Amino acid sequence: MIIDDSKVISFCSNDYLGLANHPRLKQAMIEAVEHYGVGSGAAHLVNGHSSAHHQLEEELADFCGYPRAILFSTGYMANLGLCQALLDKNDHVFEDRLNHASLLDGGLISGARLQRYLHNDVSSLQKKLAKLNADDTEKLVLTDGVFSMDGDIARLAELSVACRESASWLMVDDAHGFGTLGETGKGSLQYFSLTADDVPVYMATLGKAMGTAGAFIAGSEELIETIIQQARTYIYTTAMPAAIAEATRCSLNIIQTEPQHLQNLNNNIDYFKTCCKEAELNVENSLTAIQPLLIGDDQKAIDLSQKLFDKGFLVTAIRPPTVPQGTSRLRITLSAKHQRDHIEQLIETLSQLLDQPQ
Ligand SMILES: *Cc1c(COP(=O)(O)O)cnc(C)c1O
Repeated sequence: MIIDDSKVISFCSNDYLGLANHPRLKQAMIEAVEHYGVGSGAAHLVNGHSSAHHQLEEELADFCGYPRAILFSTGYMANLGLCQALLDKNDHVFEDRLNHASLLDGGLISGARLQRYLHNDVSSLQKKLAKLNADDTEKLVLTDGVFSMDGDIARLAELSVACRESASWLMVDDAHGFGTLGETGKGSLQYFSLTADDVPVYMATLGKAMGTAGAFIAGSEELIETIIQQARTYIYTTAMPAAIAEATRCSLNIIQTEPQHLQNLNNNIDYFKTCCKEAELNVENSLTAIQPLLIGDDQKAIDLSQKLFDKGFLVTAIRPPTVPQGTSRLRITLSAKHQRDHIEQLIETLSQLLDQPQ
């Protein structure tokens, strides 16, 4: 990236596969703009829904193994809309403590009773579920598939069993897993060999590995119909531009026909971890593209981020309230587009900076 005339290597983008600048994707977008124009002009239910949106929904459902899918203009709106469509004040919603803000906000605005369980701790969730004996309320469990600030993967296999045993719905937000996890990038369900029966509500965003913008929810016919009828963030907002939908169809095709992007990403993750080990740099134990380096003190994290910038690396400091108090960090993200020497130089520079007296 070029920021104020300085050329820096970015290690904080969510464009994990580097698709945002893929020539085929750019071409697909340009051609779609020629055909559809720029803006969609209206909400989906008025006349903003084009055949591009419709085809993308069908292709996403098919790719993820669900009967049906529905598009949202952003992931934030998808999560708010889902919670509001499914829950009311008599219901219960359970969330991992480290869930993304949009899931927490969704739970809050739904009016349901919100409880947060210990991070990735299935027995903590089970204890809370067991305290509810009323069978007449809906129970919805919400989790990130890959936790956005920590990079660890939710224990979805155990969560799905706990949800089945307690007749609760399980919803996975796979913003950081879709396109990056599993043998062919289908996401965290593929990673654990789970299906739509195990996870009745699946959500992912399109602005990260897919390199475009927007989000979708996949589920049963009944679920998607309910969202169309009830989710205010779907009904009362302008549809994403058709050209974005068309470009996303192209991304979906690229991830199925060009496995090298996912392969490059996985190689870079492995290489980063190997280099960190050699340099004795204590990154968290993450298997994904998100590799946080815990610093603790807020100011120290900001200072390190600034010093990295001066040396030509963009790594933003993430501080409370985005993460818990005392856990400020450098959230390093890897991409298919990084070269080995970018990774080597980052780690060398980080090691030098951390060795210096602060
Ligand atoms: C980015 C993100 C979102 C929000 O998606 P947008 O399309 O950027 O609004 C939701 N959930 C998680 C886990 C995310 O990382």
